[in-house]
Amino acid sequence: MSERVYIFDTTLRDGEQSPGVSLNIREKLQIAHQLARLNVDVIEAGFPFASPGDFKGVQAVAREVRGVSVAGLARANASDIDRAWEALREAEQPRIHTFIATSDIHLQHKLRMSREAVLETAVEAVRRAKGYTADVEFSAEDAFRSDPDYLCRVLAAVIAAGATTVNIPDTVGYAMPDEFGAFIAHVLDHAPGIENVVVSVHCHNDLGLAVANSLAAVRNGARQVECTVNGIGERAGNAALEEVVMGLFTRREKYGLITGIQCEEIYRTSKLVSTLTGMPVQFNKAIVGKNAFLHESGIHQDGVLKERTTYEIICPTVVGITRSNLVLGKHSGRHAFRQRLTELGFEVSEEELNRAFVRFKELADSKKQIADEDLEAILDETIRQVPATYELDYLHIFSGTTVKPTAVIGLLIDGEFVQEAACGNGPVDAAYKAIEKATGCKYSLVSYVIDAVTGGTDALANVTLKMRDEEHRVYTGRGVSADVLEASARAYVNIMNKIVYDEKTRKHE
Ligand SMILES: [Zn+2]
Repeated sequence: MSERVYIFDTTLRDGEQSPGVSLNIREKLQIAHQLARLNVDVIEAGFPFASPGDFKGVQAVAREVRGVSVAGLARANASDIDRAWEALREAEQPRIHTFIATSDIHLQHKLRMSREAVLETAVEAVRRAKGYTADVEFSAEDAFRSDPDYLCRVLAAVIAAGATTVNIPDTVGYAMPDEFGAFIAHVLDHAPGIENVVVSVHCHNDLGLAVANSLAAVRNGARQVECTVNGIGERAGNAALEEVVMGLFTRREKYGLITGIQCEEIYRTSKLVSTLTGMPVQFNKAIVGKNAFLHESGIHQDGVLKERTTYEIICPTVVGITRSNLVLGKHSGRHAFRQRLTELGFEVSEEELNRAFVRFKELADSKKQIADEDLEAILDETIRQVPATYELDYLHIFSGTTVKPTAVIGLLIDGEFVQEAACGNGPVDAAYKAIEKATGCKYSLVSYVIDAVTGGTDALANVTLKMRDEEHRVYTGRGVSADVLEASARAYVNIMNKIVYDEKTRKHE
């Protein structure tokens, strides 16, 4: 039987540290459940000591998500570790992940500690974590830029203290694949006791080499890879889960290794993470980009039609990309609608189905054919939403080349009807000003991205909006409509609902 490589997903921890990304508890749980379906081995759910929101997120995942290890990050000190355990205690398989830097740069400038002091602190942290759970991971932050002899001493000491996984990160994304592979081989040869634990790597993508470095490490004996969906994370991000997994799978004759990943869940997971974080996936992104399986040149098209493997090394259905020619329209019934959703892999409750179906009918009235991408967008908007305090009732816009853009908006606020009018620099600005007048809310715009869901001028418009509140929290909202302005207003309303939801959940803390 082939040896297993463990997939440690840190989308909810390192991924959530991406600039401009913040997820509420509900969104974290949605992603965690999907990661469980994808069958990752470990979900790193957050850094419990960092903030009450982080703590709650880890706790919710630990309570609810089954069949997977749940890890919480903790610096190498008692209060971090105690707090991590508090958040994790209800998990089926809790893992405490504690870390301290081992490179001289970090020791001198950041920690201001001697090598001996760091070693003692690391050992003590692992012992403390071990008092709570058998499953303890230790990370030597900035391991790749550390003195290899010292790193080996630290790893041997934490292993003796009970660490069951030791992680060797390239924290700053500095390594080259051949070097990193050799580095891992050296550590495996020189750290006493390392043969009894799982060796992990955590590579950053500052030079675009996170996946290459992770695979080089696996080639040299690492058996856990830390990665994120779509490669999101600090700065240029982390190793992309889907690329590591599909690299090992596609070239299994070279590696002779397996992962537990359900590959057909890859595309869906990528979409969910992109939607909820508001981080778009670049078109030419390997495995999950819009263009990853499109063939444009005539020669390529001809080849693929004759024999798929001439220009395609992965069959798109393997990663869950299924496209049918079946298009739904305004005459499609609930049954066909539900069936297509099931085929696309959406599991929805009766109530969610009803809400999505109503929206589908509204959209089918203005757009004749509803393709799979449209359905996905409708679902993103309707079922992945928080409870609606605000609802858009209607929107009228007066605009043109010689008119001052004016918006009149009708909103239901907790079921009560409110209407307002406002002028603006453009129609979207006018609509947003009218919403602000009606609600008394005001947030600053971080970004506004509009995307046509499918081709054609009757395509649905999908607006992804990011706004910042007074406390500098960033929220992402989405709106879908055949009308660009309506989609823009819906995205703003979506954000206000998320803010209300967040305030309510914070009060429970
Ligand atoms: Zn990292």
